[in-house]
Amino acid sequence: MASYSPKLSEKKYNNWVKAQLAVLFTKDGLEPFVCHEVQEFRLKCLDHICFNNGLMSGTLCSNCCTENVIKCPTNKICNVGHGRCSYHRNAATRYNPAGCPNKICHNFTTEIQNVHRFYGPSYKNTDATQWCSNSWEIAKCFMPPDGYTDVVSAQETDFNGIISVIINYKEFQLKVHENLGNKNNIFEKARDIGRNLRHSPTLEVEDIDLHQYFIVFQQLLSDAGYLATDMHAQNAKQKLIDLENDTMVIGKDDITKVLDDVAKAARDTIKDDLKRTSETVKEDMIKRRKEDLHSLGSKANEELQKIQTKSDDSLKTIKTKTDNSVKDIEKARDNSVQIMHLKKEDIEEKVKTESKKITEECERAVETIKDEGDKGRNDLANFAETVEKTLYTRITDDKKKQYNDNKQSK
Ligand SMILES: [Zn+2]
Ligand SMILES: [Zn+2]
Repeated sequence: MASYSPKLSEKKYNNWVKAQLAVLFTKDGLEPFVCHEVQEFRLKCLDHICFNNGLMSGTLCSNCCTENVIKCPTNKICNVGHGRCSYHRNAATRYNPAGCPNKICHNFTTEIQNVHRFYGPSYKNTDATQWCSNSWEIAKCFMPPDGYTDVVSAQETDFNGIISVIINYKEFQLKVHENLGNKNNIFEKARDIGRNLRHSPTLEVEDIDLHQYFIVFQQLLSDAGYLATDMHAQNAKQKLIDLENDTMVIGKDDITKVLDDVAKAARDTIKDDLKRTSETVKEDMIKRRKEDLHSLGSKANEELQKIQTKSDDSLKTIKTKTDNSVKDIEKARDNSVQIMHLKKEDIEEKVKTESKKITEECERAVETIKDEGDKGRNDLANFAETVEKTLYTRITDDKKKQYNDNKQSK
């Protein structure tokens, strides 16, 4: 009889643990089969490549990274749409049009491509430097495109990954009776069950669903092609029967394994979510930055406009004052040149004061938008400086001119 921990009192949770264990057992039953086939594929590829290229048998290469042998652009891998490709990101990860110097690696991509059911190997998962030596790096080309980069063995690979290799590596059809080209074949069904369980928001499974899961997994492990006579598959099938019939002792270790697996799945989901969230946050930040930039531009313009207005006003004032002073000079002209000189100094003093006032106004305006960004600040500072310079030159020149004119007309 089954010996459950106290937490397993609830029937649906009990079912859920059983369903998860059924996935694990089925995966265990498939692993040796998949490993063997992938290993065979690797050796076959090397034989092909050596033979077709006149290479000595046993020629290997571990120099080419995946990026070197994947054309740029390649759909779903390269994002060259917006200029630079982040996949072929630097000199070391550039696509090498000349191909592998040992004539191996780029030919490997052709071999992999040719046997992929959908002609879309997941190159993002794999490390081409290991293709010659590590079959699992090749297996990863047949798994979903995300989430398997760090997986180094079948044991570390989840049910979804293992079963995807069977579905996507076309050669498996030679060892599987079920038509893998059919949508909704037993392998697809099993994969869906695994996915649903993995993404289930509750730790519960209904009786009727659990029963259906057992049917699918047992049917899969009984596939007449190879699995029906494979020892590992048949051991797994027996475990499923015992599990369903409650003739298996579910130990703490089994439950721990299931929970660890689910926790890992949850962590991966969280990681993905975080990645997505961080991308969203990044996008938001970029958007906000752009808005800031825009409003900073407008604000700086507003401030500049204010300064411009103030400066114009001040210029007018100064001009009026200068004019008045010139009139004073004119009045004083008849009296003496010396008086005029005194007046002139007086005007210069006034101009200086007004200029100083404007500069201060500019500086105050600059101060208020100081924190809005370097660009705005620099623009304003430059503008203030220009205003000051222009103002001083203009007034001095005007004054000089008028003074000289007056002098001549005398
Ligand atoms: Zn690229
Ligand atoms: Zn190479």
